[in-house]
Amino acid sequence: TNVMECKGVNKVFQGDGISTYALQDINVRFEEGELVAIVGPSGSGKSTLLSLLGALDLPTDGEILYGDSSIIKLNQKNLADFRFENIGFIFQQFHLLPTLTAIENVMSPLFSRKVSYDKKERAENLLIQVGLEDKFNSLPAQLSGGEQQRVAIARALVHEPSWLLADEPTGNLDTDTGEIIFNRLTTLNKEKGCGVIYVTHDHELASRADRIVEMKNGKIISDTRSEVHA
Ligand code: ADP
Ligand code: ADP
Repeated sequence: TNVMECKGVNKVFQGDGISTYALQDINVRFEEGELVAIVGPSGSGKSTLLSLLGALDLPTDGEILYGDSSIIKLNQKNLADFRFENIGFIFQQFHLLPTLTAIENVMSPLFSRKVSYDKKERAENLLIQVGLEDKFNSLPAQLSGGEQQRVAIARALVHEPSWLLADEPTGNLDTDTGEIIFNRLTTLNKEKGCGVIYVTHDHELASRADRIVEMKNGKIISDTRSEVHA
């Protein structure tokens, strides 16, 4: 199953003799296919939690379970394989590779992977789905912010992950463009059953999740499932 769980997770960043307790005793479980918003003030640990869930980083201690398997003992190669199997990630700053075209960016997670489908065809279909059929060969710098984020969504989905993790996906976009991007994420969740966990500062966007996890000072201070969505 695609349940993700944190048990007693702590994350401490060390630097200049200072320890920052970014996460403190996090215990949380995300069910397959959930649509979850993570909210809280700046510095409360939202990005750190998302990066641990996406296996971009490892906890200082505690367990991160995916189904029945722990991911914290995996080596770099196995972590990369785990992400390839399960996780798509999108960021506020898009993080596209600047020297690659849109289609190459979308294909990039598949570089050096053996797959049974045609990589280029899949990337083209994803770009068509996000409305970028005439931008296949554009470089990121030639695209607007909203277009870049749509490329990033296509890239995050190219390996068909069971979870899409999004760190302030609309934070760099104007309201209308943000709405289009957010609607893509919710549609993906409803139609394909892909679990989506997004960090947001926007109360209105948070209110559209099935579940709102609120953080403060490295802890989860509330975890609410909305009745209207249930
Ligand atoms: P949020 O996403 O809620 O703004 P973060 O998860 O980015 O919070 O950060 C939580 C805390 O951990 C903050 O105090 C931040 O400064 C610190 N932090 C995050 N990443 C690092 C890092 N790589 N090195 C040192 N401190 C970090
Ligand atoms: P957010 O928009 O989520 O608040 P941040 O500005 O907190 O993002 O963090 C952006 C990046 O900087 C992250 O990769 C985080 O790990 C890193 N970071 C955050 N705080 C610190 C810090 N105090 N020292 C070093 N790196 C940090």
